[in-house]
Amino acid sequence: MTGSKIIFMPLGGAQSVGASCYFLKLGETNLLLDCGYGLTNGIRFAPKFSALLDVPYLQDFHQVSHVVISHAHLDHAAALPDFLQLNERAAVYMTDLTREILSAQLEERFTRLEENISSVAFLQRIPLPHLKISFHQAGHIPGAIMTLINFRGKNILYTGDYSTFSTQLVGAALLPNVKIDILILCGLHARHPNYRRYGDSDATLKKLLNKIYHALRHGKSVYCQVTQISKGVELITLINKFLPQAELYIDERVMKIVRRFENLHIPIMCEQNHPLSVLPRAPCVILSTLSPPVHSSLEIVNGDFSLHDDFAATVEFVRRVNPKTCVVVHSPPDKIFYTGTTLEQVLINDPDSRTSFIFPHTGELFEL
Ligand SMILES: [Zn+2]
Ligand SMILES: [Zn+2]
Repeated sequence: MTGSKIIFMPLGGAQSVGASCYFLKLGETNLLLDCGYGLTNGIRFAPKFSALLDVPYLQDFHQVSHVVISHAHLDHAAALPDFLQLNERAAVYMTDLTREILSAQLEERFTRLEENISSVAFLQRIPLPHLKISFHQAGHIPGAIMTLINFRGKNILYTGDYSTFSTQLVGAALLPNVKIDILILCGLHARHPNYRRYGDSDATLKKLLNKIYHALRHGKSVYCQVTQISKGVELITLINKFLPQAELYIDERVMKIVRRFENLHIPIMCEQNHPLSVLPRAPCVILSTLSPPVHSSLEIVNGDFSLHDDFAATVEFVRRVNPKTCVVVHSPPDKIFYTGTTLEQVLINDPDSRTSFIFPHTGELFEL
């Protein structure tokens, strides 16, 4: 019997981005937090589900009874079909909006998951034997949740990807009003002390809008490639807001998600927006998930930007939550500046902080 033990092990997306999947054992109950896939050099990889069978008292994937999906980004949700092949009985929780955005991305792979999914809403509480789960607004993208678990008097908060600022499409994260003992933090910039947002927006985003503005003024068309479909939707609203005269053509994959948002009464499109079918006349903006054409007079811009808290906001968030233990995942090292500074090193000097940190690696098992 494992009684009241809390065991944690990342199956992917530990000190890296991609294949986010975190195993949590709370006494007899076994959960997965997220189930995404990753990409290395264009090759898809799933979380290391086989590591589950190394966990004491776990002999069978069917013992994992629940999977919570924090949001519809593929690095958090797209390996769900793979896990349900190993365990067709698992109950999956996600918000309606996550369900919509995910089904548009996974297409027929999603229909096979439908019957396992239960839709959940912000502040909804789900009682399971020996524990209670509730869901809280996470910011980041529409539909994203933080998951709070109360187990034997302890509060465990899994943030998923979150933002403490609001975006064009969603408000800031709203923390549950309880004392958190264990924080499982998706800390994308927890090791990037030089990554900083300015005011209410990402510096890359401002540059991107500027570039589009100048190209259009000079009568040129702009080809904007987006890496994540939901970021494409964010960009549409930004371009409509800041460059309202721009004629904007949107590729079919992004359009699919736009329609899902509009079905849920979240308006995205305006008069200047069109589906991309034939190559439009200059000047205009083309928003696409595909690589730009090789030879063309188009101005090419990279449509990538961050929907995550920067380093200072990450420190502030953990300082505010002030958990006893903070497990930092989704946390790649700083490749650009090669600094060793982490959120832990800042808070260690804070007399009010009671937090001890764990930066686990995939397959490493911890008793929390
Ligand atoms: Zn995300
Ligand atoms: Zn992520």
